[in-house]
Amino acid sequence: MTRRSGSCLCGKSHFTLDDDQPTVAICHCTHCQKSTASAFSIVAISPREKFTVTGPLKKFADKGDSNLAVDRWFCAECGSPIWTEAEAMPGAAIVKAGCFDDTSWLKPTLQIYCDSRQNWAPLACDTANFAKAPG
Ligand SMILES: [Zn+2]
Repeated sequence: MTRRSGSCLCGKSHFTLDDDQPTVAICHCTHCQKSTASAFSIVAISPREKFTVTGPLKKFADKGDSNLAVDRWFCAECGSPIWTEAEAMPGAAIVKAGCFDDTSWLKPTLQIYCDSRQNWAPLACDTANFAKAPG
């Protein structure tokens, strides 16, 4: 089992993900754009029980573009987004992949909410691309 570790910017929040093959996705939704102050978020999606996190986390209870609950956890000390639980994906940990200590393994296989993609952001043709969410 591959254990991958990560942390926030200040280092007070830490996590590990024990998953050989998390699904790596790019989310272009407007809420990810706001919460990351960037064009999209890159996330690793795994079963919740494979994810362990410690630190001074704080939750923002959001509602996604889907109008379903999205709990966005971030480091209360430095504000780094760490992970998300989404009502649309019960039992999944959606980990902000830019916080992994080693990001060299990341290879997104799908892109979601392409409807709100920034028009300059590249849309790779080797990913499965969805206007909104799959299914
Ligand atoms: Zn922090």
